[in-house]
Parts: sequence; structure tokens; C-alpha cells
Amino acid sequence: VSKGEGKNRYTFFSQEMNKTADEKMQLSNELYRALERDEFVLNYQPQTDISGTKIIGMEALIRWNHPEKGLLPPLDFIPLAEDIGLINDIGKWVLYKACKDNKDLQDRGGPCIRVAVNLSVKQFSGSSLVDMVKETLYQSELKPEYLELEITESIAMGDFTDVQQVLKNLRELGITLSIDDFGTEYSSLSRLRHLPVDRIKIDKQFIQGISKSTHDESITSFIIALSKSMGLKVIAEGVESNSQISFLTEKSCDEIQGFYFYKPMEFEKLLDVFEVKA
Ligand code: C2E
Ligand code: MG
Ligand code: MG
Ligand code: MG
Repeated sequence: VSKGEGKNRYTFFSQEMNKTADEKMQLSNELYRALERDEFVLNYQPQTDISGTKIIGMEALIRWNHPEKGLLPPLDFIPLAEDIGLINDIGKWVLYKACKDNKDLQDRGGPCIRVAVNLSVKQFSGSSLVDMVKETLYQSELKPEYLELEITESIAMGDFTDVQQVLKNLRELGITLSIDDFGTEYSSLSRLRHLPVDRIKIDKQFIQGISKSTHDESITSFIIALSKSMGLKVIAEGVESNSQISFLTEKSCDEIQGFYFYKPMEFEKLLDVFEVKA
């Protein structure tokens, strides 16, 4: 390696690194303005009974309609929003929008179903989550029974001394709680028994291993049996194929969320699904 090459290589790497740092900085600045510029969009993915005929709920999933980059998926900006302290504002927007859309759906003569909203772990620090949810329900006029909050195992099992109490307080508002991506982080089974939750969501990585990996099949069966024995509802995420449906039917899984029946869609499209006038 000549001196020249080495230098070029160094320049190349440092430019690349600056570029990513610059890009991150730029994306942060754009993210700060995205709320006031109304650039966020919610998509809704229906959840059904095992036969796929009855829609029993829907999950709200955020996207960012970026002025140059187009529609960005949540994993492209939610972690950044968490890092730069924007997740509380975004989370608040998501919650209000989801509740308001669901109320709107009901007011137009659509079905009365649950909307599920994802919570970030960061929304649990600070004491205002319960008040924020209460206020949002009041503002949107959505009955609490039609709201579900999705938490992760790390929130549910976290070391926060007051998590248990916060979850109890949330549930006392009349809403339901589910544990998202179950099986991917860690759960203490003895604590799970005492957690005030209503539903377990089996992570899509296990569902996608059905008919490919006996390991994933065992885990899926186990999570279904565990949920049922604790009197919890259980929903399979990421269901895409016939063979997955057969397996889940045989194991008596309650509910399905996946591309097999419905992909996430805009609110207007959801109204079409329910044959409700826009
Ligand atoms: P999640 O909560 O586990 O949401 C389910 C994800 O799986 C969604 O991805 C959905 O589009 C995708 N999915 C559903 N069915 C299928 C399927 O059959 N096949 C495949 N391959 N994928 C399927 P999405 O919308 O990209 O969201 C990714 C994650 O971003 C979510 O995972 C959630 O953790 C997070 N997220 C989304 N919206 C919000 C939000 O408003 N706030 C926060 N804090 N996080 C959010
Ligand atoms: Mg979720
Ligand atoms: Mg998740
Ligand atoms: Mg999930």
C-alpha cells in the first residue's frame, strides 16, 4: 500500500463518516419540523379472528412522509426520535390521531373495534403517561374500551419500580394492554402471571418459522398454551401463508395479524374495507 493510497483510503472513510453524521444531523432537524409540518401518517392493519372473517381490532403504525425521501418506515426514524427526545411529542400525536380516527370510524357507522397503539419505553420515564392517555381519551371522545396500548417485554419486565403501578393505572382507565413481539426479549414467567395485561402478541419471527423450523413451531405452541392457561388472549403477528394459518388453527390461536389477511393501509382505505363512506 503506497502512501498515496493510504491517504485516499483515510479520506474516503472520513468523508463517509462525516456524511453519516451530517445525514443524521439533517434528519434530526427535519424530524423536529415534521410534527408542525404535519408529515406523519398513520396506517392501520386490521386484526382478525382465526378465520379472517371478523375484524376485531387494528394496529396503528406510523410512517413519515418525508418531503424528499418519500414514505419512511418507523424503524428509519423512531429510534432517532427516541435518541433526540422527540418520542414523547410524536407518541402523543400518534395516540390522539389513532383515537380520533377510531372515533371517526364509529361515528360514520363503522364497527366499534379496538385500535392498538405502540408505546416506546421512553414514554414510561416521567410520570405523565397516565394523565396523557386519560386526557387524549377525553379529547378524542373515544371510549377507553376501544383503545389498547402495546408495550414490549422490556417495559413490562423492566426494573422500573413503578411500571407495575403505571400499568395498573392505565388499565384502570378502562383500556387494554398487550405485550408486543413476545419471545424476542426476556420475560420472567412468574412476573408475567402478575402483570395487568390482556393480550400476548407472538412475534413474527416465530410465525415465519412455521413449517421451516420445529424450534419456532415449539415456541409458538408454547406461547399459545401459556397465554391460554393464564387467561390471556393471544394474537399471531406476521401471518403470511396458508400453512401458518393451518398450524395456528390447530393450536387454537385466537387472533391473526398479518399480510395474509390485511396489510397496513391508510385510514381512507380502511373505510373502504368497512364499506363506510369517506
Ligand atoms: P410492531 O409493533 O411489531 O408492528 C408490526 C410490524 O410488522 C409492522 O411493521 C407491520 O407492517 C409488520 N407486519 C405486519 N404483518 C406482517 C406480515 O405478514 N409480514 C411482514 N413481513 N411484516 C408484517 P412497521 O409498520 O414497519 O413497524 C415496525 C415497528 O415500528 C413496529 O413493530 C413498532 O415496534 C414500531 N412502531 C410503529 N409505529 C409506531 C409508533 O407509533 N410508535 C412507536 N413507538 N413505535 C412504532
Ligand atoms: Mg406493535
Ligand atoms: Mg414492536
Ligand atoms: Mg410486534
